[in-house]
Parts: sequence; structure tokens; C-alpha cells
Amino acid sequence: MPVIRQLPPSVVNKIAAGEVIERPASVVKELLENSLDAGATRIDVSVELGGLELVRVADNGGGIPPDELPLAVASHATSKLADADDLFRVRTLGFRGEALASIAEVSRFTLRSRTAEQAAGAELEVVAGKPSEVAPCGCPPGTTIEVRNLFFNTPVRRKFLRATQTEMGHVSEILVRLALAHPRVHFSLRHNSRQIHDLPPTERLIDRIGTFFGRELADDLIWLESRDDLVRLSGFVGHPNQNRPNNRMQYLFLNGRSIRDRSLQHALGEAYRGLLLTGRFPVSFLSFEMPPELVDVNVHPTKLEVRFQDGGRLYSQLLGTLRTKFLKTDLTHKLDPHGAETGQTDPAAAHDAERAAQLRSELVDWAKGQMATWRPDAVASAAPQPLGPRQTEFDLPRSSADRRPLELSTLISRAAPQGPSAAGAVAALASPPATQRTAPHSAHSHAAALQIHNRYLVAESEEGVVVIDQHALHERILYEHFRGAVLAGAVESQSLLVPEPVDLSGPEAAAVLEHRELLARLGLGIEPFGGDTILISSYPTMMSADSPAELLRSLVEILLAGGRAPERRDLLDELLHMMSCKAAIKAGDRLAPEEIEALLEQRHLAQDTHHCPHGRPTALVFTREELDRQFKRT
Ligand code: ADP
Ligand code: MG
Repeated sequence: MPVIRQLPPSVVNKIAAGEVIERPASVVKELLENSLDAGATRIDVSVELGGLELVRVADNGGGIPPDELPLAVASHATSKLADADDLFRVRTLGFRGEALASIAEVSRFTLRSRTAEQAAGAELEVVAGKPSEVAPCGCPPGTTIEVRNLFFNTPVRRKFLRATQTEMGHVSEILVRLALAHPRVHFSLRHNSRQIHDLPPTERLIDRIGTFFGRELADDLIWLESRDDLVRLSGFVGHPNQNRPNNRMQYLFLNGRSIRDRSLQHALGEAYRGLLLTGRFPVSFLSFEMPPELVDVNVHPTKLEVRFQDGGRLYSQLLGTLRTKFLKTDLTHKLDPHGAETGQTDPAAAHDAERAAQLRSELVDWAKGQMATWRPDAVASAAPQPLGPRQTEFDLPRSSADRRPLELSTLISRAAPQGPSAAGAVAALASPPATQRTAPHSAHSHAAALQIHNRYLVAESEEGVVVIDQHALHERILYEHFRGAVLAGAVESQSLLVPEPVDLSGPEAAAVLEHRELLARLGLGIEPFGGDTILISSYPTMMSADSPAELLRSLVEILLAGGRAPERRDLLDELLHMMSCKAAIKAGDRLAPEEIEALLEQRHLAQDTHHCPHGRPTALVFTREELDRQFKRT
């Protein structure tokens, strides 16, 4: 039997170092945080060979008295916590008292420090965890720490390091994050004696953003601010045309700390839904300030992740603030060369960009309709309407007075006697039940369009020519319609004559049964059938009846997909998107003239965004001026 032994302190420290100090950038992070905690207003960082040779951080902060130098490098020694309760109201960036000990354990480490009261400084050297005597030295007030030959005594760790440039990239990222979180502090960064950054203090975060990411991005940001009794949210988000292929440009700060938070990133994604193409991510520089008691920062070794006492509240605050802001902001105005408000448009902007901007703004105006009068909370708070399945008409909870009521006939489409063909779907749109025929259509009627390549509809509009993606538009319409029905508790559902059994895997069956009530709201009746078999007893009328099992499988996929915030509304939304996409007419479906007309008549329903639920545009506008210009008539 192996004997149980107490580990010697040096092994303990090496283990701790393994957690906190992964690479040179981790050293830079810990040292910068210490300097910020010490109240420094200027911090200079020098790095050699990507930090493998040297990391030096010099600050003008409060300094450490000579007799405390040995304690500073001892493990579990900190000036930032007094007792366990303090752990739950951390106001400093550091608090574990482990960083200096860990770094000194795996490097040649020098600490020089001087407080304001002292005439001279004091110095302490530590090599692989072995401290020397404290010796006097000459130095300015503040603290300078040098870390040489990182991991020289842990060769395995050293082997994991990447090329100098890669390591330097990580160092740079750390500096960028902290410099964005603390614009009032002067930072500088040198690599191999080359100056990389010199960032004078500023009151304006946007100055730092401009320095790091360029004026073009800085000019395309939207200021955001909201505050309730406990939390203040402020910062910038990118205009939708500033989007990225991943979420790395989503900077989030909490009480001066750069954090990563899945749920807040999800809220960002939600707010931009319909404004960005699928797979594109918005840019953000957002700070949350809140009492430290409301957040646990002691959940991640490098404190990158935190745990909020009330994460749902932050999620809603962020999403709500963004949505309200977007509704008030004309998201096209930055692109509009004549936009008086911006004053930021590059006067040298190419003709092409202007043209694109013009087209875009026309399109958005057309598609947005009365977006300005739409309030995001209206949907959620609207009381379910007393509608039985027999009724054929209802208002979308958010529809405004002058919009024509929707017709349930849209939903009945798939049950039309013609069978579940795409043509049938739109035919049902075109010929509402008898009770509906007298409804005033004129207000929104449009001249029929030309169908080309069985996928696009080309129509004349007041301002020019509209090219519509038939699938995208129908999908959008069905989505709006379906969502209205779900919110009103009025989804039409049809019982299956013979309930259909579907064999699923264990987790799939569990997920389905867990969300049974949700699926019922979507019109899908589910019964357990023993083992992992599920019985579909009814299905939404809107959907094609030929494969309820396939619909269920697609729904399960969404139910089991990871990375989703546990908000029920999002899940519902995702399910609705999927179902609308499935039910909509496809590209390649030939449409009859009445069907085209029916589709065009409904296009005002796609008003809250010019994109289909998957983020692709539903329509493009070519203005008459544009055509005139192209044909050299002007
Ligand atoms: P922590 O930051 O978690 O307290 P560290 O090991 O990083 O632990 O630092 C230990 C202590 O050394 C700190 O609590 C602080 O009192 C002191 N210290 C470290 N760096 C500095 C600095 N740059 N300026 C002043 N004091 C410092
Ligand atoms: Mg620290």
C-alpha cells in the first residue's frame, strides 16, 4: 500500500502554480492585477522573448514595506482578505495570496518596492521558491517585479509553450483587457525593447477602443447605459455591420475585472437576432458595476469566470437595454451618407459604400414598418387572448392599430384539401374562409410579382424594385404568425388517427418528456409509451402531416443542444424558428399567381426585421434613383 504523506510546501506551490500560471501571459495578468490593486496610476510592462526570458512590471502604486516583502511571496499571504466573510465581498482583483508565491516557485524572481513614507526601497530575490534576505536598494516609490526564465525548473511546463509570437499575443490580450477595464490608468507595453503600446490615461473608454481596434470600429459603436438600484451597465456595442466570425470581440467587464460569461454572451446574441447573419457575432465592450456581495469571484482559478447571485436579472437587464436601444436607434443611420446625426461618416467613403447604404436604409424602412412603436416587452406581457380553436381571426399581441389582423387560415395551410404541398400552403393563404372574404384587403394589397427561378419574387414598389426571397419571406410570416398563436395559447393542433410511436435514445426521450408541456404549447401532443419510445398523439396543423416523427426528432435536437441559456422563451423561440422554416414554401417551389399575391399581401408581417429568422435577408430593394443612375438617366 502506498503511504499517505503531507506534501512539502514547494510541491504544494508548484501544484498551485500549475493552476494559476499557465504561460507568460498569466504572469503579466497577476502582476498587473496586483499593481491595479495597489492603486497605481501608471504601469509599465516589458517583455522579452514572449515573456519566456523576462516579464517586468513596474508600477507607481502604494508599495510594500520592507518587512512585509517575505510575506508577499509566501503562499496564502495577502493583504486583501482578513476573514472568510471577506471572500464574499471582494473589492480587489486579487485575493488568494497565491500569485507571487506561485510565480516565484517556477522562475527567478526579483521584487523591489518602496512605499511613499520610505526614503529608499528594499529588494528580495526568490529563485525557484527559495527567498534571499531582504536588502536595501535604490528605487522610486512603487513596486517593480521581474520574472526571468519562467518554468526553468519545470521543463515539462516549458515544453507546452508556443512560439514567441503566440505567447506575446496572449500577453497583449491581457494588457488590452485590463487597459479597457481601467482607462484612467496609464499603461505601456514593450516587447524586446520595441514599444507596442503607450496608453495615456483617459476618461473615455472609446479612446482606448480606437487605439486598440482602429477608428473604423470606434466610429461604429453604440453607447449603452442602464442602471437599477444595484447594477449599472454601461459601455458600447457594435453596430450590426461590425460583426465577427466568433465571440472573441465581446469584452465584458465586471467591477474592473475582465470576465467571460456564457449567459451574457447569449443575451448579446439574442439582442442581435435578425440583425446579423447566422454564425456572425456582435462586438461589445460592456461593464457591469455591482456590489461585490452579489457576485462570487472565487469559482475559477484565474478568476476569468464568476458566479452571479442573480444571473437571470443581469441577462434580462442586458437584453432589455439592448432591445430598447435598438428600437430607438436607426441602425442604418451610420451608413447613411446624409445622416446629420453621425458626423462620423468618412467623407471619403467610396461611392459603392454610399450606394449600399442607401439601398440598405430603403430596405430597412420598408421592412421595419412600425418597428418604432413596437415594444419588446409587449410580446411577453400580453395576456393570452380568449380564442378557441374554431375562431379564425386574432391580433398579434403586438400588432398596432392600423395593421390588418392576421388570418388563421395561414396556419391551416397544411391541412388544406390539396394535401401538404407547398402550393397548397400558399393557396390557403390566398383564399381565406368565407367569414374572412369581406375583410378589407385594399390597404395592403400589392401588384402581383414575377416569380423568377422558382425562388425569387420581383415586384414594383413605390421607391423602386423589390426582390423577395420567397422561402425567407414565408418563413418569416409563418414565424410571426405561429409565435402570436403560441403566445395567445391558440395553436391549432390536430389529433393523429393512429398515434405514431417514435424510438428515441434514453436522453432524448427524457428531454421530450421533460418538455412535454412546452411541446404541447407548440401543438405537439406527446405520451410516454414505455421504454424510450414516445407516442405522438397530435401535431400542429401548420406542419406537414406526413412526418410527425421527423418533426419530433428535429425538436429533440434543439432541446438537447448545448450552449443555450436556460431561458424558456429562447428555447420556444428556437423551436418556432425551426418549425417555421420546415413549414415554409421552399426555394424551387413554383407558385400560382394567387399564391404570389397572397404572399405579398402578408409581407408587412415581416415588419420587425428585414431578415428571415435564420438571419438571411428576406428582400432587397433597388431604388428607382439607383436604376436611373445605372442606366445613366441622371
Ligand atoms: P493577492 O494579490 O491575492 O493578495 P499576491 O500573491 O498576488 O496575492 O500578492 C501578495 C501580496 O503582496 C498582496 O496582497 C499585496 O499586499 C502585495 N503586493 C503584491 N504586488 C504588489 C504591488 N505591485 N504593489 C503593492 N503591493 C503588492
Ligand atoms: Mg495578486
